[in-house]
Amino acid sequence: DPSVPATMRASVLLEQGVIEMQERPVPVAGPGEVLVRVASVGVCGSDVHYYRHGRIGDAVVDAPLVLGHEVSGTVVDVGSGVPETRVGERVAIDPQVPCRRCRHCLSGRFNLCREMRFYATPPVDGAFADYVTAPADFAHPVPGTMTDEAAALLEPLSVGLWSIHKAAIGPGDQVLVAGAGPIGAMVAQAARAAGAADVVVTDLVASRRERITSLGATRALHPVEDADAVAALEADSFVECSGATPALLQGLRAVRPGGSVVLVGMGADEAALPTAYLAAMEISLTGVFRYVDTWPRGIALAQAGMVELDALVTHRYPLEEVEAALDADSDPQCMKAVVQVS
Ligand code: NAD
Ligand code: ZN
Repeated sequence: DPSVPATMRASVLLEQGVIEMQERPVPVAGPGEVLVRVASVGVCGSDVHYYRHGRIGDAVVDAPLVLGHEVSGTVVDVGSGVPETRVGERVAIDPQVPCRRCRHCLSGRFNLCREMRFYATPPVDGAFADYVTAPADFAHPVPGTMTDEAAALLEPLSVGLWSIHKAAIGPGDQVLVAGAGPIGAMVAQAARAAGAADVVVTDLVASRRERITSLGATRALHPVEDADAVAALEADSFVECSGATPALLQGLRAVRPGGSVVLVGMGADEAALPTAYLAAMEISLTGVFRYVDTWPRGIALAQAGMVELDALVTHRYPLEEVEAALDADSDPQCMKAVVQVS
């Protein structure tokens, strides 16, 4: 395509704490892929973690890596097997590239694929760049009424949607969410959209508690000062989105007998759990790892006005200022930083 240049800008994490703008060849859409001109990329806690620590557990940045996996843009070229009519389409990208052949993929749980290639996870480059490629069926068309930023934030919304699916939240439920960060906000909104009548969110930070009542929470509580009120809950589900062990231990006790606990937050590798209590209360405990096929639902909810995505964005940066975007969380008012690439 003559409108696509040969080279592009890419903001590259060279090593822990070192970001450099590089000129790189524009990637080519392979068979079944689209080439996307990137519009907006949300900053996720995992990007910040790779930048500051150079690793997340076993995933180590031992070669230059492009961060960013919450991405929207416009299709500018297609690979073989993809209709030309897709060129010009605005899309939001599900940043997973599963193998599609293993038993996890074939059973519809491709988020658990062992061969998964995920944007901005070593060694796979992400989207802090002018162009990215994606499987055509993972580049979801978005309506003209949706902003580029909202389209990018379908990724964290997807974590919320998969979490409420795993929690089996339904009409009239009471749900406790620990953590009023972007993920807690997405879980709270997804829970309301699923019919939860009471969504109680805890956070230590006052500004986060204040914001969350317009982002899905019916009540916001301090986990320590309001500990009695949390303990008095008989929640149908508890969704842990803080990664803090005290929040996990508190939430377990706030669930009704037979209720569910979903671990979304990733904090300590291990924690001592009250096993006899969990057994006697028949509490189901499950994890969440990313999401499966949540973009169409997220787009439908946003279009119906049932979730609010734009209101999460507090900080904006151009591609030249990715470092500042990764440091945006030094401002206590920061909820979600977005890099505006084009
Ligand atoms: P965040 O750091 O912005 O939010 C976490 C919030 O928890 C903060 O506001 C913090 O003040 C609050 N908190 C700390 N201790 C608390 C306590 N004791 N009680 C209640 N709240 C407490 O992070 P985020 O971007 O919203 O992500 C939340 C978590 O979700 C992270 O651990 C992240 O790694 C995880 N995550 C998991 C998946 C997945 O697929 N499982 C995907 C994305 C993010
Ligand atoms: Zn697979």
